Order: sequence, then structure tokens, then C-alpha cells
Amino acid sequence: HKYVYDFAEGNRDLKDLLGGKGANLAEMTNLGLPVPPGFTITTEACKAYLATGEEPAGLADQVAAHLTALEQAMGRRLGDPADPLLVSVRSGAKFSMPGMMETVLNVGLNDRSVEGLARQASGGAADSAASGGADRFAWDSYRRLIQMFGKTVCEVPGEAFEHALDEAKRTKGTTNDLDLDAADLRGLVDAYKKIFSEHTGREFPQDPREQLDLAIRAVFESWNAERAVVYRRQERIPADLGTAVNVVAMVFGNLGPDSGTGVAFTRDPASGAQGIYGDYLANAQGEDVVAGIRNTVPLQELERIDKASYDELLDYMARLERHYLDLCDIEFTIERGKLWMLQTRVGKRTAAAAFVIAGQLIDEGLIDLDEALHRVNGAQLAQLMFPRFQLDHEFQPVAAGVGASPGAAVGKVVFTSARAVELAGQGENVILVRRETNPDDLNGMIAAQGILTSRGGKTSHAAVVARGMGKTCVSGADELDITVPQRRFTVAGHTVHEGDVVSIDGTTGKVYLGEVPVMPSEVVRYFEGELDPETIDDPLVRAVHRIMSHAETRRRLAVRTNADTAADAARARRFGAEGIGLCRTEHMFLGDRRELVERLILARDATERNDALAALLPLQRADFVEIFREMDGQPVTVRLIDPPLHEFLPPLEQLAVDVAVAQERGEDVATEEALLAAVRRMHEENPMLGLRGVRLGLVIPGLFAMQVRAITEAAVECARQGVHPRPEIMVPLVGAVQELETVRAEAEKIIAEVAGGSDVEVLIGTMIEVPRAALTAGQIAEAAEFFSFGTNDLTQMGWGFSRDDVEGAFFWRYLELGIFGISPFESIDADGIGRLVRIAAEEGRAARPGLKLGVCGEHGGDPDSVHFFHSIGLDYVSCSPFRVPVARLEAGRAAV
Ligand code: PEP
Ligand code: MG
Repeated sequence: HKYVYDFAEGNRDLKDLLGGKGANLAEMTNLGLPVPPGFTITTEACKAYLATGEEPAGLADQVAAHLTALEQAMGRRLGDPADPLLVSVRSGAKFSMPGMMETVLNVGLNDRSVEGLARQASGGAADSAASGGADRFAWDSYRRLIQMFGKTVCEVPGEAFEHALDEAKRTKGTTNDLDLDAADLRGLVDAYKKIFSEHTGREFPQDPREQLDLAIRAVFESWNAERAVVYRRQERIPADLGTAVNVVAMVFGNLGPDSGTGVAFTRDPASGAQGIYGDYLANAQGEDVVAGIRNTVPLQELERIDKASYDELLDYMARLERHYLDLCDIEFTIERGKLWMLQTRVGKRTAAAAFVIAGQLIDEGLIDLDEALHRVNGAQLAQLMFPRFQLDHEFQPVAAGVGASPGAAVGKVVFTSARAVELAGQGENVILVRRETNPDDLNGMIAAQGILTSRGGKTSHAAVVARGMGKTCVSGADELDITVPQRRFTVAGHTVHEGDVVSIDGTTGKVYLGEVPVMPSEVVRYFEGELDPETIDDPLVRAVHRIMSHAETRRRLAVRTNADTAADAARARRFGAEGIGLCRTEHMFLGDRRELVERLILARDATERNDALAALLPLQRADFVEIFREMDGQPVTVRLIDPPLHEFLPPLEQLAVDVAVAQERGEDVATEEALLAAVRRMHEENPMLGLRGVRLGLVIPGLFAMQVRAITEAAVECARQGVHPRPEIMVPLVGAVQELETVRAEAEKIIAEVAGGSDVEVLIGTMIEVPRAALTAGQIAEAAEFFSFGTNDLTQMGWGFSRDDVEGAFFWRYLELGIFGISPFESIDADGIGRLVRIAAEEGRAARPGLKLGVCGEHGGDPDSVHFFHSIGLDYVSCSPFRVPVARLEAGRAAV
């Protein structure tokens, strides 16, 4: 079994085996770029080690053979006392997990080779200044090895080393590491060795090969370090990939002013703009940059410092971009004027930069439009559609947490749910600030503009619930010190009291004091038709326009919208919707009309019932006329009334109290008593499984008939006015074909009566949202001209999860445990609920070829779900107006 690959043996496609870093080091090596020689131990070796706790057979020999080759390439032996080769041992998984796993530098140093390193570093120079610097460098390198090795390999607490370092500085009377000279560092090495032996019960290993083997093990084991496990769960990285280990010849950026280290981006990862972006730090190693001990300078400065290296670097950057055809980020080191490339990868970028860069690469002829579609995604587009903060220098963040639910929210700080509800009731915008939230905070979260917590990550209760509500949330801003009894928090030297205004950015996780102005999204203005993409020079809008236009030519799935008002329908149409996939008619029974519904429910006989229905009919008809007009020429799926009727009545407890109080006062309460009796009669323990959907239509005479008549009359009226209505009547909650047949028979009679002789055509179909419907779809298709998958209810009933309760109650725990990586109400559970959809689609189409299939649950606007629905051959997805562009983009991406 081959467990070890020389850099020259790998390539960028071997990320599964060599990890991202190893695969890209191999790619650069093969491009002829100056990569320090080295080799990669595969993720397979890591997995074998983690499974058994022992290195797999053959690994030690393969490492030995590659080490020998490396020594030959470098002309030095690992840890040779006279002229040592040193190596770094670096983790590198398939997916980048920044800072989560371990790295050990300077492996190969010991009490003897440290002297050899000093000689090497002095470059044979005789003058004492140079050799003093070289001594200092060598002893500093050694103390860093003991510190890193102790911490990561032997679990010596890091503070022990830090205390010793502080102590050494105190003795010297300085706060700056750089003031410690060779003698001080030599003393520090002794102190570190003592700490090492006290904590581990053994001496610091002097054998270079033993150091190497232990470091490799430690990197393997760091795959399962707690923070790595948590990070993977949050980022939905599978737990069983393992990490590769890269053993690389050390090069040093801290050998003097002609050495240094830096990072570079081939384009600006924030805006996507072209240019030279990066930072450089002379006479330093990578960890110094991370630690922020000294300030870096902009990369452009390197031109002045070392023009030859600068020109060479720019040349490599251009080559890497042409090779990867994408933004690359790069880490490099200059050792005494010699440039070394330590890492590259296709760089992370903001949503805006993703679109802008894809647009530029098309312009430059480097990628085609299909490839551009792969380079962006719906989640990025969704981010670009939120309003943004208009940040100028006045506003500096005071804290940064996790961007848990996107958006820009501004409001007065409150610390309790009750206060949030109270102030919001007075028309104030509030931000609910909590250490963490729990189900008791639900009302406060609903009332708030945004939620800010000091604990928890992307899967905390606050984050999960806020995303479910579409509410801005920053979680885990741990710089906040919150004191609820005093109603205040402190952060970065400021004290913020209840009522003070803060601004939170749910995309970046940043927190600002005061009111940051909010700007509408340019991308939304473009979708609204307010910007002319042909003339505008905003590179983002131009790129969005181009890529969206291409998605349009590619996608097979149609995209409709869920809308029940003409205004929503109009907006969705501007955003590119091709019809209404779900018009929920119950929303038309609210407001003043609630009373009419009440009359219907309380009707004592057929006459009273018919009167109530007759009063509702013209109102419904007028609603449909407006919508058909707005959607002229496009299909409109109208769903007959779905929720339990008691949702239109006052709540039981409230009514009981009101009646009791009125009786006490001796008032006439006959009507209220009748209402109360009705509410009691209709009370259900599990209303979502009770008298709703098609069941209402079968139980309450005339209700569905009224709706069917209103729809058909509206269509006939529109057609008479030259509009082209395309109504589709949809029956909810069907579980058996007999239910649908009964409704259908009545509906067909009414349609024939109202529309006979006109050229209005009305389709009749059903929702598939009860598991039994999915499993008997072949039968149901006999009575349905279309299916629309109600994946909200299908998920609710398929999993047995109450959709109104679980997210707040316990989903955070399920996410934390990794039972699922994302709420099944947010993204379709392809294995389970998705399977029901697939079965129904196949069996429905088998029974009725050409059966029209769509989705109208929330999943219709979710990027991953759109890909799934594309893959199983549905005809369309339907989603809220705002998500229509996201669905269009993803439908295009699914097709290329
Ligand atoms: C569904 O169940 O997926 C659906 C679209 O209907 P509603 O959300 O109105 O129950
Ligand atoms: Mg439903």
C-alpha cells in the first residue's frame, strides 16, 4: 500500500488522498515553481492510524525512504549535528480547516544540531555581529520547537511555556521577544526542557527521527481534536475523511533583512478587483504574522525591498491564475533573497467577489459561461440580495461573532424577551442581546429585528431559530460581557445599556455601536428592473446579469412563486417567476373577512351557511381577478382552503375568560356563548392532523364549491377582458384517491356550468404532502392533472416533526449531535422525504404520462433542494418571490 507521495508524484486532483495543501504543493512542484522539497503522507494512512491507534504496516519504511530522498535533494541529513536538515510537519485535510489542526516546525533540532544550524545561518561569516544573529536565530528556532512539540505532541499546557517566556522578558526588562539575545534564548531552552520533562515525565527527545514520528502521529490525532470536530460539524465536513501530513524542508524567513514572509492574493478576495493584494513582513516567520507581533506592510512594498523576488512572485501569481483559472491565495517565504512558494489554493472570497471574478474570467476568455455558473451559487446570490450596511471610517466593529443568519439589523438593545416584546409593541426596533437563547426567548426573537448572542456558533439555538425565521443573527460574539440584571454589556472598553442602539451584520458577524446606515441591495434593484444592465458600470451587477442570463438559457426546471396577493405576484414576475405555484387562499379569509368565516362556522342550517358562502364568493372572485390579471398568460395554482377552521376563531382560553367576565357583569352573552360552544366543539389536540385540507371540503358542504366557482368565474371574467388566465385548482392534504375523486366530481360540474362555452381551461390537481399520497401516487394520478409536492407537510408527517415547534424546541441539539447537518425543513432530506417525492413522481408519471410535477414547499427556494428536484425530473419549483432569482440560478447550475 502506498502511503507516502513525493511532491513530484501528486497533483491537484488528489485532494481526497493528499489533502488540499499536499495536492496543491504537488501541483506547484510539477509546474516548476520553487516549492521546498517534501512529501505527503496520505489521508488513508491517517484513517488507518485512527482506526487502530497504530501506524499502518509499511508506513515507517516508506517515510524513511522518502526522507532519504529528501535528504539527498537538500544535501543535508535530518538533524545532522554539523549541517542539519530541518522539516516542518503540517496537517492538510481535503477541506481547509483553518487553525483547527496541528503543525510542528523546526523538527530535527536538538542540543547538538542547534549549533550546526547556527553555523549554517551565519553562512560561514566570520564577523561576530552576523554570528551573534545566527546564534540567536538557532536558539530561537530550538525554543520554538520545544514549545510547539510540547504543546501539540505531548499536551504540555501552552501557558507553562508562555510564563517562562514572560519571565525571561521580565528579567531582561523588556516586553519585546526581539530583545532576547542568544544567551537569553539558550537559558529559555533550558527552562523549556525542564517544563517539558516535568509535564511529560521524560526528556525532550533528541533523536530527530523520533521527533518526526511523534509529530506525524500528533497531526493524525489532531483530526479528532475537539475544536476540529466542532468545526467540521458546523461546516458540514464529513467526519471520516482524515488529514494528510506534509513533511517539508524548512526554509526561513527570519534570517535577516533579506528574508521575510508573506501572503498574496491574485485578486482582491473582498471585492474581486484586479490588482496586487497581500501583506509582507520582513525578517519573520509565518507564525509572527499570525501573532501580529509586528505590523505587516502591503505587498507592493516588496518591490522596493527586494525587486527580484517581487517580480518573480508576480510572475508566479500570474502563472498560478492561468493554471487554476481562478483567484489563488499564496503563502511564500524569502530566505536570503531566494523566493519559496509554501502554499497555494483557490482562495476563499466574498459573495460579491465570487460574481465579479467569474465575470472577469469570462471577459478574459479564461472560462466559459457554463464554468462561470459553477463558480457562484444561490447562497451567495441570496447574500447579495440583503440590504447592506454603508460603512465608512466612522464605523469600526467592536466585536466579531459568527454570521449566523444574514441581514443588516439596527435597533435598541434589550436583554429579555419580555422587554423585546414590550418595546417592539411601541413601534421600536430592538436587538435582543442574550448570552445564548432558549425556547423561552421565542417571542422576543419574533419581536426583534435581530439577535445577538455571546455564545454558540452556527448551530446554536439562536442561529437555528433565527435562520428559520429569516431574521438577522450574530452568534458567539464572545467579546461581549453581558450582565442581564444590570441590563448592560461591555465590549472593547464600551458599556452598552438597554435602549442604546447597535447595528449587527448577520453576514460578516460584525457588531457596531450606534446606527449604521443601511443601503438597499444593488442586485435587488437590478432584479426590480431599476438598473439597466447594459449601461451600468457596477461590475457586480454586470456579472450578476451575465451569469443569470446564462442560467436562463440552461435551466430545464421552471420557477414559479408562492404568492397570494397581486403585489407579491407582480414582484415575483419582475424577479423572473413563470407562474404561481401556490396561492394559499386562507390568507384571503383574514382581516374583515374573518367575521364571514365565523358566520359560516356558526351556521345552524343550510340557509345560514349558504348566506355566509354567498357573501364570501364575490370577495374571493375579486381576489382571483386581480391575480389572474397580474399573471396574464402564466399558470396560477390556487389551493383550496387548507387550515383547520378554528384558526379563524378566537382562542379558546381568551374566549372562555371573556364570556365568564361578561356573565359576571350580567351582560347578554348569547352570541359569545354560541361561539364558545363552537370553539369547544372544534377544539383538536393535534390540529395539523385533524380537520383540514380536503377533509374540510368533504365535511363542510359548499365551501370548496364556493371557491371553485369564484376561481372559474374570475377566469371567465378575465378572459372576457382579453386577459389569458390559466387557473389550476389544487386540493390540499389528499391521502387517498377517493378523496380527490369526490372533490373533483363536484368541481367539474361547477366548471362546466360556469366556463362551458368559453375557452377557459381549468386544471384540477392535488398536493402530495401526506406520505400515503406519495406511496399511492399511481392511483392518485388517475384523478389529478398535476401534482405539487408540499414538502413542508411531507417533512412534518414523514419525520413526525411538528413544523411549528421543533426548531425552537430541540433542533439545535440534533444539529449539534450531527443527526442531520441542516434542518430538514430548510433543505430536503433526500434519503427519506426526497425518496417519497421520487417514488410519487415515478409512479405518478407511469400512471399518467406527462403529469405535471412541481414543488411548493419551502424547499423550492433552497439551493441544494433545487438540484435534487432537477435530478428527479420535476417540471418546476415554486418559492417565495424573494427567492425566485436564487432558484433560477440554481436551476441553471443544476443543468450544467
Ligand atoms: C407544504 O405543506 O409544503 C405546503 C406548501 O403547504 P403549507 O405550507 O401551506 O402547509
Ligand atoms: Mg401543507
